[in-house]
Amino acid sequence: MIVVMEKSATQAQIEHMIGRVQELGLKAHVIQGTERTVIAAVGDDRGSSKESLASGPGVSEVVPILAPYKVASRELKPDPTQIQVGQFKAGAGVVGVMAGPCSVESEEQIVSSAHAVKKAGATALRGGAFKPRTSPYSFQGMKEEGLKLLALAREETGLAIVTEVMSTEEVDLVAKYSDVLQIGARNMQNYRLLEAVGNSDRAVLLKRGASATIEEFLLAAEYILNEGNPNVMLCERGIRTFETHTRFTLPLATVPYLHRKTHLPVIIDPSHGTGHAYLVPDMSVAAVAAGADGLIIEVHPTPETAASDGYQSLTFPQFDETMARCARVAVAVDKEMCTMH
Ligand code: PEP
Ligand code: MN
Repeated sequence: MIVVMEKSATQAQIEHMIGRVQELGLKAHVIQGTERTVIAAVGDDRGSSKESLASGPGVSEVVPILAPYKVASRELKPDPTQIQVGQFKAGAGVVGVMAGPCSVESEEQIVSSAHAVKKAGATALRGGAFKPRTSPYSFQGMKEEGLKLLALAREETGLAIVTEVMSTEEVDLVAKYSDVLQIGARNMQNYRLLEAVGNSDRAVLLKRGASATIEEFLLAAEYILNEGNPNVMLCERGIRTFETHTRFTLPLATVPYLHRKTHLPVIIDPSHGTGHAYLVPDMSVAAVAAGADGLIIEVHPTPETAASDGYQSLTFPQFDETMARCARVAVAVDKEMCTMH
């Protein structure tokens, strides 16, 4: 249920209603809108009396949240959530780009990538230190050594760091070195991991599971939000279909659909979404045109020798060119690219 307070409600009345919600055994999420405050009462509310809340002091009305996800829904919070990632504010009407190699491989590789993507206009550096690989014999990542190299690249460039965390035990370690915790597609329904990042003070980039419906995707986000971390970015990275020409199928209707259903920012990953470097520039531009709040793109100094995902990674010049095209399209949809200042 949503307890909508009167515009004139006092802080004491708001606090009283938070207490009432908790007395009913529900969790109170308070959303301070530009106009008024609303309190989301989430949990099993079948036995709770809507009327008793509606008659509380300073209450305008009590309405049910119809969507199965509650805190993530637009019904609850009409204003877009804005998330600060280094110098990029996701959800604030600018387009931010996170770019870098699939995996951190060496100091030279990650630091040169950081300088190159920054120069082209990215505001965050991506790079996996813990890699979820289909085969146990594939490169598994440099682990903590890789995290240290990411931190070094941040020191040299000022870029924010986005990197994947694969298990609950490693959340503190990954958070120590990074700005954004990435939850990979394979872990989208690892509920204990979602709760663990929900208790972190780092922003989260939640990638859609390759066979997850949008409802499952939003319920996964709900796990994080429900633990009290409001800073969740949703990342469409392609889904599995009957089509085999591309590695995954990248549905860009996800962008306006999610914007309608949720207040969380939407990021597109055209690299995993297509699996072919030659498709990445056009799909990046298309994602900006579709209204994406940001992009996450794989870029490598020498894609041919990459330890993972080289076939879908852009070279530095290709990334430069892609950024220039995205900037032109951003202007056409009344936005602009966020760059480092
Ligand atoms: C990645 O970002 O390199 C990655 C493994 O992505 P996903 O979880 O979307 O497959
Ligand atoms: Mn990858």
